[in-house]
Amino acid sequence: MIISIKALLRGPRHFDFEFDSDLWGDRDANDQILGLEGPLNVQMTISKEESNFVVEGRLSGGIRLRCDRCLDLYSHELRPEFRLFLSSSPQDPDQREIELCEEDMAVRFITGDEIDIDDIVIEQIYLSLPIKFLCGEGCNGLCPICGTNLNRGKCGCPEKNGHPAFLKLKELDMD
Ligand SMILES: [Zn+2]
Ligand SMILES: [Zn+2]
Repeated sequence: MIISIKALLRGPRHFDFEFDSDLWGDRDANDQILGLEGPLNVQMTISKEESNFVVEGRLSGGIRLRCDRCLDLYSHELRPEFRLFLSSSPQDPDQREIELCEEDMAVRFITGDEIDIDDIVIEQIYLSLPIKFLCGEGCNGLCPICGTNLNRGKCGCPEKNGHPAFLKLKELDMD
């Protein structure tokens, strides 16, 4: 959804809409993020503050991820809340002030006179994802010898030293 900055000059605008799961498309090429589970609810308020815009919002929905340890797909709940600045010019004299007083607040630069809401939503989804994708705290991963998913039962291979959590799946020969 594209909104014009002109429309925001008249006062804060509130958005409450469903972000269609189709909009995710084939965004992630590495097959770790499989896409949204149905529509994502987006609530967002954009208001003008000095010469910038402040975006406050929350997302609510689910996303399908692939577990780093056992490679199974699982559902991750998305509930991020966010607040960020949109600044129309990096040379803005107020910019330094923003960085000094609210260091933890993200600043995005906008070019032209339009804001792409979808871009903001997608960026916030990525930012809210965990560093490591795990289907559960206690995921047992795959057997380093035969590749059996140890969450579904033991495989009978001799126990090896080391915890399966430290297994480097990328080096595992799956053939
Ligand atoms: Zn897992
Ligand atoms: Zn095994």
